[in-house]
Amino acid sequence: MDALDRLAKGLERDLRDPYNPTFCVDCVGTAMERLFSDEKQQHANALHLQQNHHALLTSIMTYMTVPRVEEDMAELEALLLRTMATCPGRANHGVLQNIDGVFPDDALRTLLHPVRVCLEASSKLLRTQLFSRRGVWPRLIEDIIPRGPRESLAVLLFWLNRSGSYKHWVPLTAFGPFFCTVFEVCRLEFISELEADDMRTLFIDMICQQLDLAASILREKSCPHIPAHLRMGTTSAVLRTVCIGAGIRHSTYRAIVEGSQLRLLESLTAAADSVDARSFPGIKEQLVSLQMGIHLTMGPTHQVPQPIVDFYASMHKPLQEDVRLDLYFRLRAIDNDVACNAPDCRTHTRKTPTGKLQRCGGCRLLKYCTRECQKRHWNLYTAPHRWACLKLKELFAVAQFTLAPMAFVAACKASSLPDAFYEEIYCYLSADLNAEITAEAISEIEALD
Ligand SMILES: [Zn+2]
Ligand SMILES: [Zn+2]
Ligand SMILES: [Zn+2]
Repeated sequence: MDALDRLAKGLERDLRDPYNPTFCVDCVGTAMERLFSDEKQQHANALHLQQNHHALLTSIMTYMTVPRVEEDMAELEALLLRTMATCPGRANHGVLQNIDGVFPDDALRTLLHPVRVCLEASSKLLRTQLFSRRGVWPRLIEDIIPRGPRESLAVLLFWLNRSGSYKHWVPLTAFGPFFCTVFEVCRLEFISELEADDMRTLFIDMICQQLDLAASILREKSCPHIPAHLRMGTTSAVLRTVCIGAGIRHSTYRAIVEGSQLRLLESLTAAADSVDARSFPGIKEQLVSLQMGIHLTMGPTHQVPQPIVDFYASMHKPLQEDVRLDLYFRLRAIDNDVACNAPDCRTHTRKTPTGKLQRCGGCRLLKYCTRECQKRHWNLYTAPHRWACLKLKELFAVAQFTLAPMAFVAACKASSLPDAFYEEIYCYLSADLNAEITAEAISEIEALD
């Protein structure tokens, strides 16, 4: 760990003033590559940093979220070049392959390694967005976004937008996933910022610009153009993370997209149409899913174009053939949900009185912030949980959602429960706030009274 400790101590000193960083991009880049290229070593180094170098990790995030405009970039570039020119290790410069020659961006890319591995080493953190109470970084949201959510989000979007203009494709594949990781962890804070009109506009503008630019490059080139495809893949992954991340409901998607849906759909359609679906099937699927998501979220008044329906259907064929699989993924999503399941509450785990959600004692699936929420949902007029709870108990006696997908389906098929049983629960659980329940279910609910 000596090399890591030395690097961490030096960097911490060099980042003391986030406006005037004094580290050498080349030397630090080379050291980072050595420390974080191997997956096993990466994990061990992440744990070491999480336990011993809190100040460094937080100063990296402070540096990364310092408000910047394009005009500052020349100054930052000159500053970084000066440090490199006077660096004692300059005899060994130039070994790094991935340097793009745009030093502010190279510097950022170099620095995001340690933060990314630390966040990704805490898989529970990514899923629940619960911060550690032990001596592990991050302990609080302020460790990751010390400058506050609004400023941090704006600056991260600024960097993300810049990464679209690089000459090489390496930076795109580094900063995009990093943005998504930080966004997942700080989702609660960032989403409430994104619901403000100016930030929402900034975000949608950026997404549309990137998609349009990539689509126009692809229309001009006859061969598959990797950087443009990557730009499209990264941009759609960002949109996907923001709109359909863990614990997100249609209402959140709608809140972000509302008012810009036509423009966004136009950009997504142009992007999807220009993608080489044979060479880049994943990117094409992601774009079509996002188009579909907007159509579905915006409600039945929007006619979903037939080509989207067809492509979507071909993507999801196995799911549509078996409602048990749909149900399985629905159950997994509810299990991963980070907000109170009472539809009129939806308080985030981190905002509850105890910082935790309590599971329903019956089904052990749904979670609530308080007893009151549980009681209210239990008797909710339109869709009382006491009906679903009984069904879920019956289902879990047959098949647990902790099984692998196909094992779950096999266990269901081995039981005597009829197809309609799965359809009913699926319908109930997948309805957003206003459940569309079958007539049979309604009469059963009435019989409970
Ligand atoms: Zn150097
Ligand atoms: Zn229950
Ligand atoms: Zn609640």
